[in-house]
Amino acid sequence: MSRHVVVIGAGIIGAACAIELLRDGNRVTIVEPGDPGGEQAASYGNGTLLNPSSVIPMSSPGIWKKVPGYLRDPLGPLAIRWRYLPSLLPWLRRFVAAGSTPEKLSAIARALQPLLAEAPARHRALAEEAGVGDLITRQGVLFAYLDRAAFQAEALSWRLRRDNGTRWLELDDDELRQREPTLSRDYKFAVLVEENGQCRDPGAYVAALIRHAVASGATLRRARATGFRIANTHLRAVLTDAGEIEADNAVIAAGAYSKQLAAAAGDRVPLESERGYHVVISDPGIEPRYPVMPGDGKMAFAMTPAGLRIGGQVELAGLDAEPNWKRAGVLLAFVRKVYPGVPADLPPERIKYWMGHRPSMPDGLPCLGPSSASGDIVHAFGHGHVGLTAGATTGKLVADIIAGRPVPFDLDPYSARRFT
Ligand SMILES: Cc1cc2nc3c(=O)[nH]c(=O)nc-3n(C[C@H](O)[C@H](O)[C@H](O)COP(=O)(O)OP(=O)(O)OC[C@H]3O[C@@H](n4cnc5c(N)ncnc54)[C@H](O)[C@@H]3O)c2cc1C
Repeated sequence: MSRHVVVIGAGIIGAACAIELLRDGNRVTIVEPGDPGGEQAASYGNGTLLNPSSVIPMSSPGIWKKVPGYLRDPLGPLAIRWRYLPSLLPWLRRFVAAGSTPEKLSAIARALQPLLAEAPARHRALAEEAGVGDLITRQGVLFAYLDRAAFQAEALSWRLRRDNGTRWLELDDDELRQREPTLSRDYKFAVLVEENGQCRDPGAYVAALIRHAVASGATLRRARATGFRIANTHLRAVLTDAGEIEADNAVIAAGAYSKQLAAAAGDRVPLESERGYHVVISDPGIEPRYPVMPGDGKMAFAMTPAGLRIGGQVELAGLDAEPNWKRAGVLLAFVRKVYPGVPADLPPERIKYWMGHRPSMPDGLPCLGPSSASGDIVHAFGHGHVGLTAGATTGKLVADIIAGRPVPFDLDPYSARRFT
């Protein structure tokens, strides 16, 4: 029997859910106030990487010792705005606890693994279906280090990756030079994860997926969802600022803006924005073969049709604070350390900045599964640093849940109730 499913949010998660729900024969309405694939969404401005190897959360043993530094240095790779600290404290406490032992990290990595596995192939299939297969590439991603000792200092993370199926090639100085001649000679060791991939233009990709969903019968409503009408645990309608939409099911996929909607569906979740930035340099004067993550700068470098994109930074300052563009300047200042071939005197018109909101739970795991107030409402938000990668599999899982099919792996680690 055909059900009417309202998908709230048209980022990568909402887009993938819409397509999988249509495949099951559901009637689908997508509710989104902005342009699908537009700059308001994290799915537009991310680092472009599709890394099944990204199973390590941000929290790590001993991270609490670094918190005073995060407060002191507004331009460090992770910064906390003083003014925001009181509201942030409950999230921060859970964040520190989530990665406090290697065993906890290992459990998180195990939970993320099936969500990220085979991501490049799954996205490639979705992209081909939407007519933009060339946006997904599978050339591998380089993790570049100043020396082997710097790589060995991250031994725990790499062991957990290996335990969860990541395989890699270790490249010494010469091999690295041959593989990636554009990279600075300061990097003398690298790890190439060949199974990792890239979405060359995530905004265009999401826009194409939504166009494909609409061409396949979905309705796109320009509106902002505000809540639900629920009677006897059954969903009756999704409430929006443009009126009610009657529905049998709803999917909450509004990224960092999902907290109030989750509360309206009976779940108080510790969802925060980990604000991130990117810089795009058009015509950078180099042609790197691989996306690169330099070990000494927590950022991702990747070519996109608009130019070289450098994405990164974590800023805990909430959804409403103004961007601190100096943070994007930090990314820009790092470029020539990685690629000395990029001109030093770039004119401002060749540089574009962006800021957006990673939808982040303290343990780096999303919320996936039926809500507490009604099993008809399904959570699909909180993918933090790995939402682009996890998008395709999330769409499939949500369709399985709504169809009542068995899901291929345990959803307990993703429960919206795990922090209560
Ligand atoms: C700098 C940076 C680098 C990143 N790098 C990577 C990477 O390399 N690889 C990776 O896998 N992930 C990466 N990420 C994370 C990834 O981008 C996110 O996890 C992912 O895009 C989240 O997708 P989403 O669909 O949940 O949210 P979003 O893309 O934010 O989409 C949510 C949508 O919901 C809409 N919305 C909001 N409120 C409402 C409402 N009330 N009603 C209806 N619609 C609403 C918004 O307008 C928006 O379009 C990065 C993120 C950042 C910021």
